[in-house]
Amino acid sequence: MRFGNIAGNKNIIKSMRAAIRHGHIGHAYIIDGHLGSGKRLLADTFAAAILCQNLAGDDPCGICISCITFQSGNHPDVVNVQTPKKFLGIDDVREQIIENINVLPYSSQKRIYIIENAHTLTAPAQNALLKTLEDGPKHAVFLLLSQNHKAFLPTVLSRCALYKIAPLGDADIVAHLRKHGIDPNIAAIAAANSSGSIGRAMAIAADDGFMALRNEILEMAQNIENIDIVEIFAAAKALENHKDHIGQALDIMCIHYRDILVEDKTDDPAAAIRNIRIIEEAKQKLSQNCNFLLTMEIMLLKLGGLI
Ligand SMILES: [Zn+2]
Repeated sequence: MRFGNIAGNKNIIKSMRAAIRHGHIGHAYIIDGHLGSGKRLLADTFAAAILCQNLAGDDPCGICISCITFQSGNHPDVVNVQTPKKFLGIDDVREQIIENINVLPYSSQKRIYIIENAHTLTAPAQNALLKTLEDGPKHAVFLLLSQNHKAFLPTVLSRCALYKIAPLGDADIVAHLRKHGIDPNIAAIAAANSSGSIGRAMAIAADDGFMALRNEILEMAQNIENIDIVEIFAAAKALENHKDHIGQALDIMCIHYRDILVEDKTDDPAAAIRNIRIIEEAKQKLSQNCNFLLTMEIMLLKLGGLI
């Protein structure tokens, strides 16, 4: 668990590292970003660094007793605030936070409360928490993980440092997936379909259904110039089975032609470029709600050189 292993989010990491380095840990932080954007990893790395007994630069060392208990999920000075219902109510804040807030930390200078789903805190719950944010003991540090910072009362927001996670670029996501040993082509397709979310990209890359789709689409793309018109219509019909994942399917095709170009596998680069344009055109038609089957038929006929 190191800041250097976290993709993107350079400014947030810089600020967290500076806080660790100077020992200036704030009282409360909101880490805001959509599902799968890496909030938890940032929070965990920051928390582990705050508690680490033997920092490696600004990073948690990973081997002291604090780091080991943290990674095992049993650190006595970390409170993972649970969301037993669909929201966090005043009872949750009282029972999980306020009741033990004045107990001194067991093994560290700080006790860290990590509040997942903090955007679901009700207004009364936020007001209860606010008192703690204003007058709570110095040892308490709050990391509020949120999917919507607009859900916070202005009074709560004003007491917290707000870190907003920006969606990652495809290149950042590909680099991260490749660090995890994922094939570059799969990483590229997963990134293209992840809406800037590492979590979603990792899930796509690990999905057996996705691999099956990839194999089927690649086979189609490789054979498209050798099949007749009846088989083209059958292929379009087959794509209809993947209607829910058509974005992924078309990306797989585009990346197939891009590879042909980049890896210099063709005597006819103009054809590969033309094919990428044909697929992009079909994507655009689908986004405009054109008839699915008709759009796929025209795309495959063009790719097959039949029209
Ligand atoms: Zn450590």
